[in-house]
Amino acid sequence: MDKNQLQQLRELPIEGVAGRLGLHVERHKSLCPFHDDRHPSLSFNVARNTFRCFVCGASGGTIDLVMRHLGKDFKEACRWLADEHNIIRHEYRPPAATQPSPFDAARYSRLFSSPSLGKTAQLFLFERRMLDPRVVRWCRLNSWRDRQGINWLQIPYFNADGTLTGIQNRNLDYGSTPEGIPRFMFPRGSRCGIYNLPVLRLLRPGDELFITEGCSDCWAMLSAGHKAIAIPSATLLSHGDTGILSQLHERHSVSLHMYPDCDVPGERLFLQLRGILPRLERHQLPPGCKDFSDYYVSSKKQNNV
Ligand SMILES: [Zn+2]
Repeated sequence: MDKNQLQQLRELPIEGVAGRLGLHVERHKSLCPFHDDRHPSLSFNVARNTFRCFVCGASGGTIDLVMRHLGKDFKEACRWLADEHNIIRHEYRPPAATQPSPFDAARYSRLFSSPSLGKTAQLFLFERRMLDPRVVRWCRLNSWRDRQGINWLQIPYFNADGTLTGIQNRNLDYGSTPEGIPRFMFPRGSRCGIYNLPVLRLLRPGDELFITEGCSDCWAMLSAGHKAIAIPSATLLSHGDTGILSQLHERHSVSLHMYPDCDVPGERLFLQLRGILPRLERHQLPPGCKDFSDYYVSSKKQNNV
C-alpha cells in the first residue's frame, strides 16, 4: 500500500468508520468501546478526523480506531479499511446540522428591488468614497440600522443572470461599535463569490474588464468608468467561480486588467489570479495609494480643487 492509499484511509470520515464498526454516533459522540462506558464519552473531531475518550484516554485517527476496536495490527487494519472504503463513503451521511443551509433568496430579494440608503450610508458612499450614484444604483446597495443603532450597508451578490446568491453586511460604524460586533456579517447560506457578475452581460468584444479585490475597489473602478468585477480572495474561490474566471477571455473576447493592492496580500492575489488568467495585465498604482479606491478618491479630490 503506497502513501496515497494510506492517506485516503486516514481521510475516510472518522464518524463513518465508527458507524461501520458498529458504534452509534450522535452529535459527534458515542459510547466508548475501550472502557466500560455508560454515558457517551468517546468524542469525534470531524475537522481533525480524530477520536478521543476523555475517560480512558483512547485517541487517534481512522486506522487507530480500527486497530483498537477490532484488535488488528496496522497492516490488517489498513486492509480492513481498504475493503470497507466504498461502503463507508457510500453509507456515511454527515448529520444535517453540519450541512450548510441554503440561502433564502426569496426572503431577501425584495430588499433590493427598491433599495434605500440612510444618512450614514450616503455619507460613506458619496462623500467618503465619492462614488457615482449610478454605480450605487446598479449595485442595488441598501442600508439598515439594527436594534443597537449600528448602521449596516447591505451588499447583494448576484449571478450573471441576476439571481441573488448572497448578501454581505458591512458595519458602517466599525471602529466605534462595541467589541465583538464584526465588520462583516453574512446571512445564513450566503454565497459571496465573484462580485458584480451581472456586468458580464454588458461586455462587448474588445472591452477591458478590471478585476479588483473586494467591493469597494469595484465600486471605485465602476465609478471611474470601467467595467469591473471583484473577488474576495483567490484561495476562497469556488470551483464554479474559477470556471467563470478562466472562461472570461475566450467567452467574452475581453482583455483582463488588474491594479494589485500595494501590499503583500495584493501581490499574492495577483500572482494567484495570473495562474488562472495567464493574460491578466498588471497595472501599477501610483506611489502612496494603497488600493484603487484610494487612488480614485485622491484623483477625484485633485480634479475638484
Ligand atoms: Zn474510553
